[in-house]
Amino acid sequence: MTVRSLTEFNLKDIEYNYKLINERISNACQKVGKSREEVIFLSAVKTVPCEIINHAISLGLKYIGENKVQELLQKYDEYDLKNAELQFIGHLQTNKVKQIIDKVTLIQSVDSIKLAGEISKRAEELNKCIDVLIEVNAAGEQSKWGVDTERLYEFIDEARQFKGISIKGLMTIPPICENQDENRKYFSKIYKMFIDIQSKKMDNVNIHILSMGMSDDYAAAIEEGATMVRIGSALFGKRVYY
Ligand SMILES: *Cc1c(COP(=O)(O)O)cnc(C)c1O
Repeated sequence: MTVRSLTEFNLKDIEYNYKLINERISNACQKVGKSREEVIFLSAVKTVPCEIINHAISLGLKYIGENKVQELLQKYDEYDLKNAELQFIGHLQTNKVKQIIDKVTLIQSVDSIKLAGEISKRAEELNKCIDVLIEVNAAGEQSKWGVDTERLYEFIDEARQFKGISIKGLMTIPPICENQDENRKYFSKIYKMFIDIQSKKMDNVNIHILSMGMSDDYAAAIEEGATMVRIGSALFGKRVYY
């Protein structure tokens, strides 16, 4: 477990970063004729202690995302969830679904039918239907989680049969590229699939969230069609660990 010490953070820096990121998001929206409200700024808060996360929430941050179940459970009682939504953004093992199902508003990382089925089952036990995104492996990398693009349509067609989940969109983490512009081709590829799936109007598929873009490439992602960006280090500073 690697929650960083409070002394590693400077509140003034976070305030500055928060403003700057919002400005850059607005600029990217403007550049492509989107309104600012069409893009959600979610912060990836791994390794960040709750005191610091809650400070960001006090500045106006509305969405936070954790990528490890253990860390989420450890921090859960301290998040200011009156003023922000908690989502799950990392790889999720099926045997851990029950530990977070009642704690998050959206699971961004559905990457197998088995996981979709387990989330649905646990949600139904609570008489709920939980919102999910399908994680897509944009470049077909062996090392990455996510559904291959060639299988995406078939996958969605299968996953939409589960009554306890509602498919709200796609999420992707493209390869680490030398420059932002290289990632644009993956962003635009996933955007095209997103639009195509939307146009098919399948039952139990109401796709309107496209989660892509992180600290180094969120402006490019918005320009290529992202409706949600997940930003960690640009807000809270560089991590030494994962
Ligand atoms: C950490 C993380 C991010 C944000 O990464 P940064 O490069 O720090 O902005 C986005 N998405 C997921 C799934 C993450 O785990």
